[in-house]
Amino acid sequence: MRVIAPQAMEKLVHLLSDDGYEVVGPTVREGAIVYDRLGGMDDLPIGRGDDHGQGHYRLRDRGDKALFGYVVGPHSWKKYLFPPRETLVRVLRRDDGGFETAPGEAPPPRRAFIGVRPCELAAIAVQDRVFLGQAVRDRAYGARRDGVFLVAVNCAEPGGTCFCTSMGTGPRAHGGFDLALTEVIDGDGHFLVAEAGSEAGGRLLERLAPREATEAERTAAERVWREAPARMGRSMRGDAREVLARSLEHPRWEETAARCLSCANCTLVCPTCFCAQIEERPDLEGKVSERVRSWDSCFNGEHSYVIGGPHRTTVAARYRQWLTHKLSTWHAQFGSSGCVGCGRCITWCPVGIDITEEVAAIGADTGGSGP
Ligand code: SF4
Ligand code: SF4
Repeated sequence: MRVIAPQAMEKLVHLLSDDGYEVVGPTVREGAIVYDRLGGMDDLPIGRGDDHGQGHYRLRDRGDKALFGYVVGPHSWKKYLFPPRETLVRVLRRDDGGFETAPGEAPPPRRAFIGVRPCELAAIAVQDRVFLGQAVRDRAYGARRDGVFLVAVNCAEPGGTCFCTSMGTGPRAHGGFDLALTEVIDGDGHFLVAEAGSEAGGRLLERLAPREATEAERTAAERVWREAPARMGRSMRGDAREVLARSLEHPRWEETAARCLSCANCTLVCPTCFCAQIEERPDLEGKVSERVRSWDSCFNGEHSYVIGGPHRTTVAARYRQWLTHKLSTWHAQFGSSGCVGCGRCITWCPVGIDITEEVAAIGADTGGSGP
């Protein structure tokens, strides 16, 4: 087991930067942990924790020097791999009346993501299947995804809305990273256990001059891994895929719709949601047209527009679409659940609708997934 000091994070940021990566990671802005560019370890949310509940999020001081002592904020890595708005292609009219195409955006930088939670690694894998694993590969996503360097951080203190254990995605990462860190703070010290997950991760780790863990450090790290699952705030019980598939006419959809604002917050914070709209934007002279893709949501009425108008005209229909796709039909479409148990949709729902409560309530009535 290899160990590095917390101060090695400064060197890690600079080494990645020297290697040509744009380094992004967690930082504090406007009362939340958000992902942004890092210039050094002082940009990390040192000593900050976060409390999560239904429609509730607050930062707090932890009283220690933890670098990764928070859970997750409203941002996910989706904003870098599948940005909220991007120009996919520009179409230029030539003087001879023909046209040619040009890239919509400058080539993306190579990025290193620092502080990727295990559920977020799983979310990236889900979006990889959506954008790269289908008959047509999404070139814009692929260009940003290729060459990303992933520094994962295992969760020591899952939050009040986390349920990654139920979804099999955490709280410890077992693959899909270049380097994985476990931060340990106990009475005897503060250190990071580092595991390489790729050759590039191994080379970077050696440049950080790690040392072998002492017996006490090994025991402390193993305690973190053992105890973290029990700190999970929520669980998803039973087989949500099966429960929802047989509950399309359940009265709970209407009951939840009476509270749901159809605001789309849950889909925007979700690290796997990928609904988008495409607009063609010609200039007034008809010389250039841009094809722009921007995030959309199945909670927006217009998103279900087909010939004659939208077909999901009620909030109940939209909520049912979101939940059944995410937890049930996603399996048939992409071979996995669309939920990784990060809890963001619970934390950031302004009226506190809880995906785990909904499945439990529907399952209790249909004999499949009650508490
Ligand atoms: S479930 Fe909550 S976050 Fe999602 S659309 Fe309804 S009110 Fe908004
Ligand atoms: S549905 Fe909710 S808990 Fe599941 S991945 Fe999306 S935001 Fe996270």
